[in-house]
Amino acid sequence: MTAPSVARIHRVAIISTGSEILQGLYADTNARYLAEQMSALGGEVILIAAAPDNADELRRILEYAVGRADLVICSGGLGPTADDVNREVFAEVWRVNLVRNEQAVEMMRERFRARGREMPPANEVQGMVPAGAIVLQNQWGTAPGFFLSAGAGGPGAPKCALLALPGPPKELIPMFETLALPLLRERIGGATVVRTRTIHTYGRPESELGALTRDLFRRDPAVGFTILAKTYGVDFRVTVRGKDRTAVDALVAQYEDETLQRVGRDCVYGFDDDTMASAVAGLLIASGVTVTVAESCTGGLVAKLLTDTPGSSAYLRQAVVTYANEAKEALLGVRPETLRLHGAVSEACAREMAEGARRAAGGPDYALAITGIAGPTGGSAQKPVGLVYVALASDRPTVCIERRFLGDRDQIRLHAALTALDLLRRTLLGLQG
Ligand code: ATP
Ligand code: MG
Repeated sequence: MTAPSVARIHRVAIISTGSEILQGLYADTNARYLAEQMSALGGEVILIAAAPDNADELRRILEYAVGRADLVICSGGLGPTADDVNREVFAEVWRVNLVRNEQAVEMMRERFRARGREMPPANEVQGMVPAGAIVLQNQWGTAPGFFLSAGAGGPGAPKCALLALPGPPKELIPMFETLALPLLRERIGGATVVRTRTIHTYGRPESELGALTRDLFRRDPAVGFTILAKTYGVDFRVTVRGKDRTAVDALVAQYEDETLQRVGRDCVYGFDDDTMASAVAGLLIASGVTVTVAESCTGGLVAKLLTDTPGSSAYLRQAVVTYANEAKEALLGVRPETLRLHGAVSEACAREMAEGARRAAGGPDYALAITGIAGPTGGSAQKPVGLVYVALASDRPTVCIERRFLGDRDQIRLHAALTALDLLRRTLLGLQG
């Protein structure tokens, strides 16, 4: 006797229901959660949609989804009120009857009893589930969820499985983790191993990086290769699915190597959970050197980022925020003529800030200084908002770079701080010319 074959799940569609999502009243966090879970399991999420509390609309979206996916996961719309239309629509699309699940009704009744109340008759409808479904009893709320496997539908029904879960995340998440995951694990098709690798870059535009890696994007159907521009830097993400762990790991490593070769190692500051600051911290610790910081427009952000990593006293000596000209003179020894001739936002000032900070800290190995115009006011034709100078003093000649960042105050400050850390990173790696 052979075991009955279970239909494999590769392609997954996630549908959230609730008109309030479409009105922007709350964010669809269920879809994000489910997409992350299903991707980690080895499924491929091909669609995320939100449907209003309207039977016709939901039916149309489901009809679209069942034609393309092996599994539809639907959240919400299982409540007891008239706007909770999901179970009827599921019954229609999968061509099954709804049947009453006594255990679910009893659990709901018990829930009300525990609070000294009688269950209103309206709640009984929540105990109705598609005939043939595996019922996921809800210990965290009222409505049970259910799983209808592919092929469990009536004659002419789509060959697509359905997982229905209640909308409240406090119910959906524990139900998914304790009841749905075991069912899905044994059905997730073929690809049992999934590996992802994120490659973080800073300092090169997305368009340029995309052009350098163009042919990697659709080269191999087993490999997901994506590029993601963030407010700070650009990430590449490699996702490989397969049956053999070693082969999957090798493919990830191959894509990583190729990406690094194309874009150049110097703009890659880290992988996966690394941040610019953690990368710099690692380099400072590895080379046994320390840094001190003098900040103006970033108001302490560089110091904050450097101290995000535990054990930062090993490499951060001190950090000062010198906002006023007098503070730059008094604490860093910036010369009054420099400020008078060039202004506080100038290469000359940044250099003196860095050198002064290094002296003031008793000659640590490196000193970073930042001065600039974060906006939105304070800019001029010659010195626009976003103009930033970053200087790095060390036992070698002081280096200073000028940047013109776009964006709002927060973005400009973040870019200024990251540019400073990146300058230090490149210097520690011997990449800065
Ligand atoms: P209930 O029995 O509570 O009515 P339900 O299954 O009918 O459950 P909905 O009515 O769709 O679920 O949603 C109930 C609440 O759960 C929403 O008001 C919202 O706070 C939360 N919720 C629903 N769907 C989502 C979602 N996709 N993302 C985040 N929160 C959600
Ligand atoms: Mg509801």
